[in-house]
Amino acid sequence: MFSPSSRHLLFSTQLRRLQSTLVVAEHNNEVLSPATQNTLSAAKKIGGDVAVLVAGTKCGPAAQAVAKANGISKVLVAESDAFKGLTPETLTPLILASQKQFNFTHILAPATAFGKALLPRVAAKLDVSPITDIIGVKDANTFIRTIYAGNAILTLEAKDAIKVITVRSTAFPPEPLEGGSAAVDKAPEGDYKTDLVQFVSQELAKSDRPELTSAKNIVAGGRGLKSGDNFKLLYDLADKLNAAVGASRAAVDAGFVANDLQIGQTGKIVAPDLYIAVGISGAIQHLAGMKDSKTIVAINKDPEAPIFQVSDYGLVADLFKAVPELTGKL
Ligand SMILES: Cc1cc2nc3c(=O)[nH]c(=O)nc-3n(C[C@H](O)[C@H](O)[C@H](O)COP(=O)(O)OP(=O)(O)OC[C@H]3O[C@@H](n4cnc5c(N)ncnc54)[C@H](O)[C@@H]3O)c2cc1C
Repeated sequence: MFSPSSRHLLFSTQLRRLQSTLVVAEHNNEVLSPATQNTLSAAKKIGGDVAVLVAGTKCGPAAQAVAKANGISKVLVAESDAFKGLTPETLTPLILASQKQFNFTHILAPATAFGKALLPRVAAKLDVSPITDIIGVKDANTFIRTIYAGNAILTLEAKDAIKVITVRSTAFPPEPLEGGSAAVDKAPEGDYKTDLVQFVSQELAKSDRPELTSAKNIVAGGRGLKSGDNFKLLYDLADKLNAAVGASRAAVDAGFVANDLQIGQTGKIVAPDLYIAVGISGAIQHLAGMKDSKTIVAINKDPEAPIFQVSDYGLVADLFKAVPELTGKL
């Protein structure tokens, strides 16, 4: 006979053993996205076994890279032309087949455009609530996320048997891709082709600068820049700081720069060591994307601009004078 406390112990160790997480890797057929490494650390925080699914038309490099992460139980690989463009319509049945075979308790992906498109579809098919953009893990059932454009923090206890979760990469450290040697296996076979969608083409912005969401330094410009040509001032400053360049939605909407540079509630969420906001007023929807940056510097000619309420260092000045001067001094 077990005493009540040892029975409890046995029950909870059984639960822990049964717990297992599937991380859906994001990659571009060449390299694993850095956001996948942040998602791996969230998965490890949940506890239990961690498996990784790598699907695509060419999975080798990403599968090899992720197999080197410490503490991964296995890497499942699904390589097929069906996964061209990594559309949610083809990946969802693959994830459901993997789920059926391995009975994961948690399914995670980065809260990038890839993960945000994919996981709610998976959750709907599993008839569970998706949990989006988590910034913390309290325990295997309890997660932290922001609401109201980052102005309130919500702690959520999930009752669903399978938790389907996207992970905010800036909230978790990147899991190093070293020290491990997970087995690489084939994911469940199936006919994953679909008539629902077809990947036609993509246009990628070319840049030699660091990628926005993983950059240590960011220089961002707003409507105050007045034109796309004037962004050259920011590129010159960014070159000195080895920084990525971002923008407010007003700057994107005015056509100064491309959409993928937008930072904020409807753009990218960043949290670099240094964020320099130039000619940006600091609207709540912009702050939602950058206010967790370690040091925020604002350059704005309006002393009442809300950006000064979140900045560590503020300069009330005309950006067309202040930015070249700053660049010259670095
Ligand atoms: C649903 C929704 C979602 C949104 N999502 C986003 C989002 O993801 N990201 C985002 O950024 N916005 C978003 N917005 C828009 C947001 O509300 C603001 O309109 C936007 O952030 C303003 O951009 P801005 O600061 O560049 O422009 P403005 O608010 O026009 O500010 C320009 C600033 O430049 C300063 N300035 C002008 N000239 C100079 C000069 N010569 N020198 C120095 N300073 C100068 C001005 O003083 C001013 O403070 C969203 C809005 C909605 C409704």
